[in-house]
Amino acid sequence: MSNLFYQSRQPRPFLDRGEGIYLFDEHGKRYIDGSSGAMVSNIGHSNPRVLEAMKAQMDKATFGYRLHFRTEASERLATKTASLMPDGLDRVFFVSGGSEAVESCVKLARQYALTQGQASRWKVISRFPSYHGCTLGALALTGYDPLALPFAPMMQVMPKIAAPTCYLDRDNLTDEARGLKYADLLRDEIIAQGPDTVLAFIMEPIGGASTGALVAPDSYYARIREICDEFGILLIYDEVMTGAGRTGRFLAAEHWGITPDIVALSKGFAAGYAPLGAMVARNDIVEAILDAGGFLHGFTYAGNPLACAAGLAVLEEIEREGLVANAARMGEVLKQRLEGLMRRYPMIGDVRGKGLMTAFELVSDRETMAPLPRGMNAYLRLVEIAYGNGLIIYSRRTRGGAEGDHFLVCPPLIITEAQVDEMMGLLVRSLDTFCAESGL
Ligand code: PLP
Repeated sequence: MSNLFYQSRQPRPFLDRGEGIYLFDEHGKRYIDGSSGAMVSNIGHSNPRVLEAMKAQMDKATFGYRLHFRTEASERLATKTASLMPDGLDRVFFVSGGSEAVESCVKLARQYALTQGQASRWKVISRFPSYHGCTLGALALTGYDPLALPFAPMMQVMPKIAAPTCYLDRDNLTDEARGLKYADLLRDEIIAQGPDTVLAFIMEPIGGASTGALVAPDSYYARIREICDEFGILLIYDEVMTGAGRTGRFLAAEHWGITPDIVALSKGFAAGYAPLGAMVARNDIVEAILDAGGFLHGFTYAGNPLACAAGLAVLEEIEREGLVANAARMGEVLKQRLEGLMRRYPMIGDVRGKGLMTAFELVSDRETMAPLPRGMNAYLRLVEIAYGNGLIIYSRRTRGGAEGDHFLVCPPLIITEAQVDEMMGLLVRSLDTFCAESGL
């Protein structure tokens, strides 16, 4: 028995080392990190320039409490981060992970409302399904019942609207009309809740683990921004998974030219070299709060210099190697290859995503998109077969109001075309075994 525990008993080998897109276990077995861990390791493993920058910081200081000192690492990372944001998003607040980033966004929004004499505004509308983190504040926004319901009595569960699962709709609407239909659910919900009680709307621009790289029609994004403006509601983009280049733009918001009011970042932001996240907000929001006495929020490790040195080196590496553009290019290649597999495997019902945030869904009937039987546990079984073959992918059984087995294929942004093909070879081998086993 190990003294250490996580969610469940799932024996795994010890990790020995990482190199680029590969991980090696204690027995020397090599794995392609086809999900970048949990969509984290965007620049690959053991990048020498990042390690060098971290070592240089370690030789100086690994901690300085933010109330006692400013640090060059955190100041430089804040400047760099702001330079990568859409105009107007200038102020950066550091945290240690995605849930903390989301909590920070919500508390910033609330404190801003108070400075504006809007104490009645406290509800944060989110979507179903969605994932915004596992601390109680972030969980209250998370649209995923198995994780949230057991804790519901302990938190103020927030109102949800349906995520735009247009690919499941069997109506005659155009894509544009579908996008507007789903966006208008926000308008209806704001009116139902009472507009003067609603503080903010939070969304993953491309749903990650919640929906499997679900991208809405273009019309959705602009309409959501319009609705927030109409009711004076803050728009929070949770870019914890989509940010830092994963979708082929630094922020996914850039695909639609949207400027949110507040953004949450983590995961690829320091790419697993250190636990780090950030909230980035509009300058006037932050100034109003600072004028009113200060932000009533902060974590001990905020702006940790070692984490910030890692984050800065990661962002510099993304720029130096042109990894955002590579994510866009390799994303196209990967999507084409996955779409090609639809000819070979009728059970692949959908391939979707943007950049290297890519997913496929397994179904029992592509026409109706009926899911595979629950008892088949496809989302677990295929991942296990692939793991045995040395390929790591990420899966969940969630979609819309129902269940569906989706698989995220999100390799590090440094991947080459030859490595995409190597990864596809392992995926095909795994799908063949899965089909043979399950009689599909
Ligand atoms: N938000 C999104 C969109 C995520 O995907 C995640 C994690 O998967 C989180 C928030 C929570 O991040 P963390 O696990 O670092 O707290």
